[in-house]
Amino acid sequence: GDEAYSCNKKLAGIEVSNRGALNLFIAWCHENNFQLSSKVTVSRTGSCAQYGMHAVEDIAAGYCIFQVPRSVLLMPSNSSIENLIKPENSKLTSTNQWIPLLLTLLYESNKPDSKWVPYLALAPDSEAIDLPMFWEKTEVEKLLKGTGVDKAVERDLKMIEVDFSHLVLPFFQNAEGTIRTEAINLESFKRMVAFVMAYSFTEPACKSTSTSENNGEGEQNDSDEDEDENGNEKTLPPMMVPMADMLNHITKHNAKLTFGTEALKMVTTRAIKKGEEIFNTYGQVSNLHLMHMYGFAEPYPNNTNDVVEIPVHRLLDAAKERASGDGTELKLVDSKWETLLKQEIIVEDDVVVLGRDGIVNDDICMQVLKVLSMNSSEYKAYVENEGWSDDASEASDEDDGVLDLAHISQLRDAQKMLLKRMGELHLQDYAVSFEDTVKKLEAAASLPARERFALYTSHGQQMLIKQLINACA
Ligand code: SAM
Repeated sequence: GDEAYSCNKKLAGIEVSNRGALNLFIAWCHENNFQLSSKVTVSRTGSCAQYGMHAVEDIAAGYCIFQVPRSVLLMPSNSSIENLIKPENSKLTSTNQWIPLLLTLLYESNKPDSKWVPYLALAPDSEAIDLPMFWEKTEVEKLLKGTGVDKAVERDLKMIEVDFSHLVLPFFQNAEGTIRTEAINLESFKRMVAFVMAYSFTEPACKSTSTSENNGEGEQNDSDEDEDENGNEKTLPPMMVPMADMLNHITKHNAKLTFGTEALKMVTTRAIKKGEEIFNTYGQVSNLHLMHMYGFAEPYPNNTNDVVEIPVHRLLDAAKERASGDGTELKLVDSKWETLLKQEIIVEDDVVVLGRDGIVNDDICMQVLKVLSMNSSEYKAYVENEGWSDDASEASDEDDGVLDLAHISQLRDAQKMLLKRMGELHLQDYAVSFEDTVKKLEAAASLPARERFALYTSHGQQMLIKQLINACA
């Protein structure tokens, strides 16, 4: 309605007591035309985590709380370092899209007259961003084994080291005089990576060529994946959005960032009562993603986007367990697996994605179940046909939704057994058993943040697996 985007020009009612970095930042936002509404306040008080934003008056749905003009987005194209980044861009983005923004952040945060000084001064200090990648390896194992966060952390740490020595350090060494090289070390780079992980945003890929304003919903830092003309993955580069990154996330959010031609706008998605915290959405994200990228997770059942990623080889393990006799059955299972890999139906480190309503990637999972549950003559015919024989049925749109919890009872018994066992085997992989997780939850509120959020992550996943097991019974 008319209320939408009627941004209030008055400066927000910020706590008068806090005359420090926050006030300087708010003043900077005011000077830069953020049009921050007086119906909100930014503070540490009452927020679910460090800083947050609250309503100080009732706010209608569709109301613009503030805007962020595109000229103040902290990204390479708005920084003078761009001249040095541009010629190197294809090399710098050969493995991921983050390096140009990280270089820009390192440059601007070491520049006393940077346009973003008031923003960067308020950036969280090193202890505040407590991502699992900063934990001791033993602690990650103890609290997060089986959740997938453990594996993500391992991948990140390797990538950070390689990117730092192959790209970041050589970049600044070649760009003599742009930055004091003493300021650049692996530890400071890692901190910057964490800042980008937990605070950056990614604009949604605009697929239409229309020139009209794109008010698409963005995702906080979760790079939208697309494909280039060669079928390679292409991701949009992330950017820092001052003020928008002050907002915390919950699945049942009440505001979202929209992307316009001149400015990004934080718009309420429902009416908000005085005193409520304003929550943005970082995307439709699982606890695995939240824990990995932001260091927190939501307690079950709040995160309706939660999923658990179960390595597909657990289906192989399940099939092997069922093979009996003189080894012929075991050989048959191995041969089926080889075929699935050869046909590129799966690759070794694929995962079965299990969500609230059942298996999300049911097309792949169903093909694996079909092959693994074939008897030897069905399998022989399948191989001779170099793919699906008529009666084994093609993997097609018909398979859509077949692995929804509501439909699983209709599967062949052998397929249900495999799914059930896959779930049971994965449950055994968690550091803490389901029973112990449930017990620990009773005192979750008094646990240190790391343990509490890790517990929410494991518990949410274990609940999804239990549901699957029940559906297969
Ligand atoms: N609270 C942040 C601050 O003070 O700078 C602003 C949000 S920042 C974009 C993202 C970080 O906020 C996360 O890494 C996490 O530490 C925290 N956060 C956001 N939503 C949260 C939630 N629902 N529960 C706990 N922590 C949350």
